[in-house]
Amino acid sequence: MYFHVLTLFPEMITNSLNMSIIGRAVEKDIISLEAVQIRDYTLDKHNKVDDYTYGGGAGMLMQAQPVYDCCEAVQKSIESAGRKRSRVIYVTPGGYTFNQTMAQEFSEEEDLIFLCGHYEGIDERVLEEVVTDYVSIGDYVLTGGELPAMVMIDCISRFVPGVLSNSESAMTESFSDGLLEYPQYTRPEEWHGKKVPEILLSGHHANVEKWRLEQSLEKTKRIRPDLYDSYMEAHPPVIKKKRRKSTQKPLANEETL
Ligand code: SAM
Repeated sequence: MYFHVLTLFPEMITNSLNMSIIGRAVEKDIISLEAVQIRDYTLDKHNKVDDYTYGGGAGMLMQAQPVYDCCEAVQKSIESAGRKRSRVIYVTPGGYTFNQTMAQEFSEEEDLIFLCGHYEGIDERVLEEVVTDYVSIGDYVLTGGELPAMVMIDCISRFVPGVLSNSESAMTESFSDGLLEYPQYTRPEEWHGKKVPEILLSGHHANVEKWRLEQSLEKTKRIRPDLYDSYMEAHPPVIKKKRRKSTQKPLANEETL
C-alpha cells in the first residue's frame, strides 16, 4: 500500500512514522510512505503558500495553486506507475470522524493521498477539485494536519496484511466487534498482591471467551454507553424457548429460534 502525505512539514511525517511496527513495514516494502513538500510547487517568487482570508478574520489560509499542483503531480506519478488515481483525504476537524471501520475500508485501497492543512486551513476551491474524503480525528482543533494524518496511517496500516505479526490482532481489538476490549494479563500470575483472574488459567477456551465477552460488555456499558446501545441493538439477547415435541402442533405465535 502506498501512502502519500502532502504537507508543509514533511520531516514530521518521515521522522515519526519510520520506526516501530510501521517503520518495519516500510523497511519490508509492505507499505510505502512518501511525504511531499507542498511549498516545492508554489509559483510565488518568494516561495509563499498562504495569504489573508477574503472577508477578514484571523490567520492565513493555504492557497489553491500550490496544493493543486502538488496533488496533481502525485496523482500523475501514481498513474505513470500503472495504478489508478488515488482517493484524496483532507484531514480536517470539519470532516467525518475517523473510526476503525473507516480504517479497514481505506486499507483496501492501493494508494491514499493525505492532504494536511496548516494555519486556518486551505482555500475551499482547491478542496472542491481534489478532495474525495473529509476526515477528522475528533472534536478538537490541532495546529496542523500532520498528526491526524499519522494517526490515520498508523491505524490503516494495521489492517494491511503482513504489517502486524499476528494478523488476528487487528480483528480482536477494541471496536472491531463494536465493543471495547476486555482486560488482559501477562506473567507473573501475581503482582502487587493482584492475581490474574482464575478463569484465564483454567485452559477452558469456551469459558475464557464467555468471560471476555462479559468483561467487554461491562466495560463498554460503563465507559461508552453509546457503543453499548448500538451493540445491544445489533445483538439483541436470544431468549431460548423450551423445545416442543415434534408431533405437537406449533403455537400460532411461537418463534423459531
Ligand atoms: N480553521 C479550521 C477549522 O476551524 O476547521 C481549523 C484549521 S487547523 C488550525 C489547521 C489544520 O489542522 C486543518 O486544516 C487540518 O488539516 C488540521 N486539523 C486540525 N484539527 C484537526 C482534527 N481534529 N482532525 C483532522 N485534522 C485536523
